[in-house]
Amino acid sequence: MYNYHKSNNQIENKTIFEYNSKNNCGIDISTPEYKIEISNNDIKEALNHSKYDISNSNAFLPEASEFQVIRHFTIISRNNFCIDTNIYPLGSCTMKYNPRINEWVANLKYFDMLHPLMEVKDLQFPLSLMWDVQNYLAEISGFHSVSLQPAAGAHSEFTGLSIMKKKCFLRNENRKKILVPDSAHGTNPATANMLNLEVVNIKSNEHGYLSSKDVLEKMTPDVLGIMITNPNTLGIFEKEIKDISDIVHKKGGYVYGDGANLNSLLSYVRPGDIGFDLLHFNLHKTFSTPHGGGGPGCGAIGVIKSLEDFLPKPTIKTYKKKFYLSNKKKSIGFIKSFYPNFSIVLRAWTYIRSMGGKNFKKSTSLAVLNANYIRSKLKDLYHLPYQTDSLHEVVISDKKQKAQSNITALDISKRIMDFKVHPPTIYFPLNVPGAIMIEPTETEGKDEIDYLCSVLTIIANEAKNNPEIIRTAPHNTDVIRPDEIEAVKKPILTWNQYQEGHAPR
Ligand SMILES: *Cc1c(COP(=O)(O)O)cnc(C)c1O
Repeated sequence: MYNYHKSNNQIENKTIFEYNSKNNCGIDISTPEYKIEISNNDIKEALNHSKYDISNSNAFLPEASEFQVIRHFTIISRNNFCIDTNIYPLGSCTMKYNPRINEWVANLKYFDMLHPLMEVKDLQFPLSLMWDVQNYLAEISGFHSVSLQPAAGAHSEFTGLSIMKKKCFLRNENRKKILVPDSAHGTNPATANMLNLEVVNIKSNEHGYLSSKDVLEKMTPDVLGIMITNPNTLGIFEKEIKDISDIVHKKGGYVYGDGANLNSLLSYVRPGDIGFDLLHFNLHKTFSTPHGGGGPGCGAIGVIKSLEDFLPKPTIKTYKKKFYLSNKKKSIGFIKSFYPNFSIVLRAWTYIRSMGGKNFKKSTSLAVLNANYIRSKLKDLYHLPYQTDSLHEVVISDKKQKAQSNITALDISKRIMDFKVHPPTIYFPLNVPGAIMIEPTETEGKDEIDYLCSVLTIIANEAKNNPEIIRTAPHNTDVIRPDEIEAVKKPILTWNQYQEGHAPR
């Protein structure tokens, strides 16, 4: 049985700034005992460029010993909840295990020494790996070309819609609207907004997917296209996708695919084969590179042949077994400095190479099996908003518990933390009131999933018999129920503030 232990973590009372003490320092690299020789001029040059002289800076940087720094950050890291310690069924986020072989490759000495200012002729091997990953992703997704430049899914959406806009602009078309389903991730309408596009909402039908009839009605000549997540954020496959993409194409629009849920299609369905014109990949979700805490990530983008020339600069070219960077004339331009987040690309390269098509097929079927196993175990305890079969994630809601004892999705997710499980995604997708969205991924085993279901079973029973314990949860964590807005806007960062009674409990 999967056990949990209440944390006996040390609490770190100080911020790193509070360790500051004049001339306190770990190592002095200005007087090494042995001279460090760097023979490669490019690297020397690069190191000189990246040297940052803090003596003239106004920034207050703490002076602390190496030991203090290591202890400080190690203690903080142990207070962190992470996929390496506990189950993390955060819906839509694909919190799968990050295989250590990815880390091993990314940390090889050679890769450590790379610098973006090195010359392309000295970067042939890294470029060949980026080239590989582009090709693997193109093959996996059915697209003609892939760029690894975008640093995240949202960044890739921005890249993709910019490409669609530029293509239409060059055709002298002024398309100012974009269709976005009600189940879409918040980044979809946010991206549209960033590009001054007006969002036209499309509602999912009673089965949880889009109807082509609705799209036909809304696909007017001023619409740039549609953003579709497939399977959608309910974990449901868009059954009318082919008709929808035909309608959009007939009216000169483009179908943008939010590929965050690719984890449920790998080796089974290629989005490029079912009508998508562009698609983003979240390497930090599907391809097992670490994520959370704001990055770095990689939101590669795949496009059909007619959009290839619009990909962001630079693109990688190969000629006579050599790699070059090219800046295409029609490109939407630079969206990021230098190269893609290369260490993330390396991890994805390793993951793809170690998995291969057959294992992807297995991982996809396990991801789907795990979600459906949870669905069948919970279906009598929680309200299921849609009866349609789901793929890699399942959305339940708080409807029953709310009616029974006014227990909400927020209360349930707070109580889950007492059992050392990361709460699922809640109140998303927006088309399900009180949504609780669970994505176990293929990497959790049956013991872990049974444990998660037993926790949710305990909580469903508590909602009937002892709702107070849920309403006052969590009981086992350092922080209980902070005012979320306040916590973001006025974070408590020092022990003094905490003691002064600004505690976020
Ligand atoms: C995670 C996610 C995104 C955004 O991706 P980021 O890499 O976090 O920017 C977009 N859509 C869906 C469905 C997602 O799950």
